[in-house]
Amino acid sequence: MDFRLTEDEELFQKVVREFCEKRLRPRSREIDETEQIPLDLLKQMAELKLLGIGIPESYGGAGATAMMTALAAVEIGRGDISMATAVFYLLEAGWSYILNLFGTEQAKREVFPPVVAGDAFIGIATTEPGGGSDLANTKTTARREGDYYVLNGEKAFCSGVIESAQRLPEGGGHLTLVRTDPSRGYNGMSFIYVPIRTEGITVTQYKDMGRMGISTGGIFYKDAKVPAKYLLGEEDKGFYYAMSGFNAARTQVAAACVGAAERALEVGIEYVKQREAFGRPIGKFEGVQFEIADQYGMTEMIKLAVLKAASLIDQNPHPDSYMQSEITKIVSIAKLFAPQIAFETVKRAMMWYGAAGYTKENELEMGLRGVMSYMVGAEGALNIMRVILGRELLGKEFIPYK
Ligand SMILES: Cc1cc2nc3c(=O)[nH]c(=O)nc-3n(C[C@H](O)[C@H](O)[C@H](O)COP(=O)(O)OP(=O)(O)OC[C@H]3O[C@@H](n4cnc5c(N)ncnc54)[C@H](O)[C@@H]3O)c2cc1C
Repeated sequence: MDFRLTEDEELFQKVVREFCEKRLRPRSREIDETEQIPLDLLKQMAELKLLGIGIPESYGGAGATAMMTALAAVEIGRGDISMATAVFYLLEAGWSYILNLFGTEQAKREVFPPVVAGDAFIGIATTEPGGGSDLANTKTTARREGDYYVLNGEKAFCSGVIESAQRLPEGGGHLTLVRTDPSRGYNGMSFIYVPIRTEGITVTQYKDMGRMGISTGGIFYKDAKVPAKYLLGEEDKGFYYAMSGFNAARTQVAAACVGAAERALEVGIEYVKQREAFGRPIGKFEGVQFEIADQYGMTEMIKLAVLKAASLIDQNPHPDSYMQSEITKIVSIAKLFAPQIAFETVKRAMMWYGAAGYTKENELEMGLRGVMSYMVGAEGALNIMRVILGRELLGKEFIPYK
């Protein structure tokens, strides 16, 4: 076990941090207010090969490890504490990783290059209006007809709908969980990359409270014909591909939350060193120092869990690996606690600022709204992380429902 980063990782981290401090953070308020990530900023990220970061070099990507991906997610979370840029980044990283593992060669050759260039988006569509936690209840269907699947149904709360449907020049799409055999529960679902600009697909946009720079919305499928080459792996095995994708994406969610917590500590510590009350800097009061110590300690602890998850994924990339249960456990720990630690750290830092923390002059309020998305459920509700941990620790027969 070696807790040091390699030289390459350290250099990479430095380059990404510099980009985030010089180019991204100065525009984070603009991202929040205009409700979009400027296209020129996406192009700058593309130049640094940050988009679809794990996509192999043969498709134009950086072929980054999960560790590198997580290091960058931390920096991007620190750079744009609203979480919008981190969400864009990590969804592309997590779900292109799964398309790379299970997608057809043809699909990868078509989908990856525009994602890497910042001209298209790749995300995930599993949640439906009936719920996002109980995916066994998925209702959207896909019927095979020759070289196509015909989709009918509806997905909800999907990130990146407007970016892919309207904003980015080459569109993009979502890895979509569909029911291909209604009689077989989990074993009757497939995972298909669905280009959003397909005839028969329409989208709506929700008005979110935070991470305003990336859209969230519904996707409707009415006899939408999707080429069969976009099926991932084998038909009816999609549920398992989706679950392994969640491990990859949730690691990065947790990494982005670590970034938000680190940024809150950074600005909070600076402030308490210079703001005075009762004739001394408020940082001299133990009540404030102890809070800083607690939040720093928790952030460091969860960062270790995140980096362990990334390291295990790198060592055991295939979902059939014997290490899968270990990976699932540490990822669930990371996704369960990182958003809570980030939320609490941002909240406390806002309170160290007093009234000045409650204004839009202060970046922390964007962090509070953004991190909240991971508390309510994005990439899996907190209780679902507990359900997964319970299953791994007690055994499948202890799942309370079937
Ligand atoms: C900003 C944002 C972006 C999102 N982006 C995407 C996306 O890109 N693609 C996508 O597919 N989805 C996306 N989602 C949806 C997300 O995946 C779901 O919110 C999540 O899976 C939870 O589903 P739900 O919201 O329907 O809540 P429900 O499943 O209805 O759950 C509601 C509450 O009940 C609790 N609960 C449910 N089951 C149990 C149980 N067995 N035991 C204890 N408690 C339980 C949950 O913890 C939760 O608190 C996004 C959500 C948000 C907020």
